[in-house]
Amino acid sequence: MRRKLAAGNWKMNGTGGSLAELSALAESHAGPAAEILICPPATLLSRAADTVRGSAVAIGGQDCHANAAGAHTGDLSAAMLKDAGAAAVILGHSERRADHGETDAQICAKAGAAIAEGLTAVVCIGETLAEREAGDTLKIAGSQLAGSVPASATGANTVIAYEPVWAIGTGKVPTLAQIAEVHDFLRAELSARFGAAAADGFRLLYGGSVKPSNASEIFAVSNVDGALVGGASLRAADFSPIITALE
Ligand code: PEP
Repeated sequence: MRRKLAAGNWKMNGTGGSLAELSALAESHAGPAAEILICPPATLLSRAADTVRGSAVAIGGQDCHANAAGAHTGDLSAAMLKDAGAAAVILGHSERRADHGETDAQICAKAGAAIAEGLTAVVCIGETLAEREAGDTLKIAGSQLAGSVPASATGANTVIAYEPVWAIGTGKVPTLAQIAEVHDFLRAELSARFGAAAADGFRLLYGGSVKPSNASEIFAVSNVDGALVGGASLRAADFSPIITALE
């Protein structure tokens, strides 16, 4: 039985004052059935971890370097994230693939490093609008999954987030049938690679314009084990009903 996961990606949003949202979230979900993860910007990691300590909310990073240490100005290693209080890290978000040219191979190496450090790797994949319109959605999902998920991945250390690029921050959401098609496909691909029993353990999150108003219907879709939420994770008042919809 896979435990549902509500993950929030704050992206490049939030300063010290935003920690009040975390306290509010922790207070209103004291013993949730679902797992809750918030990934604030790196500048807030340590204070965020202090804020939620002892609560049901875990903290994660938004990226890490594949190397453990060295001459990589501006980067953070998985060990540094862990040291700052992170339990997980988002890797291969489409904004990083687009803004920083991250490749599947680089994401795979980062995920391997995160897993080796004991962090949960939240590996993001998803097609652009042009790729969907060309009928290539499953081809892209399959190749990104194969290329970005390391051999060391298990359901215990890795979460897959399917995030169609055209649905992120746009208010556009695929149909429930389209979400089901991709999630069922991902489960089958994981099964072909890792075996059916191991594949069954991976949580598959949907991400892209999830809101309190559409969360319940998305969570009812086959093989959707939770959500990766951007905009609606910034305020406890928006994220809280999404968590509740998972429970
Ligand atoms: C995201 O950034 O991962 C995301 C899904 O954003 P939003 O929920 O704002 O579409």
